[in-house]
Amino acid sequence: MKKFLQQLKRALGQWSYGRYGYDQLSKVLYFISIVCIGLSLIPGFQFLVVISLVLVVLVSFRTSSKHTAKRRLENEKFLSLTKKPRDWFAFRKEVYANRKTYSYFICTECGRHYRVPKGKGKIKISCPGCGTTVIAKT
Ligand SMILES: [Zn+2]
Repeated sequence: MKKFLQQLKRALGQWSYGRYGYDQLSKVLYFISIVCIGLSLIPGFQFLVVISLVLVVLVSFRTSSKHTAKRRLENEKFLSLTKKPRDWFAFRKEVYANRKTYSYFICTECGRHYRVPKGKGKIKISCPGCGTTVIAKT
């Protein structure tokens, strides 16, 4: 049994050599297919099983593809299209994680986000991007 598993591991390793593998786009497609499976349990939404199956086939195709340059370009396009919402969520996550130690501000001139330590009282804050100053309570 142990020898069989070692042979299987080696065979899978040889098969996957030169293949593209998982990336962010594949993970998102896989997640959407799982959500579709869950929603297909609701009466009237059984058609989502087909969409889920198509997505699983697409993910399998992408991960086992040997055209790595094409797959990389697809992933880069996906990442560039989703940059704004991903940045927004990353910023919200940072604000939440540092909510007890920093106050966050948005510059009224250039729109840049910046932070200052909390508990300093009413202070004059200058934007690191454009130098605009505001007086705010931290
Ligand atoms: Zn500014």
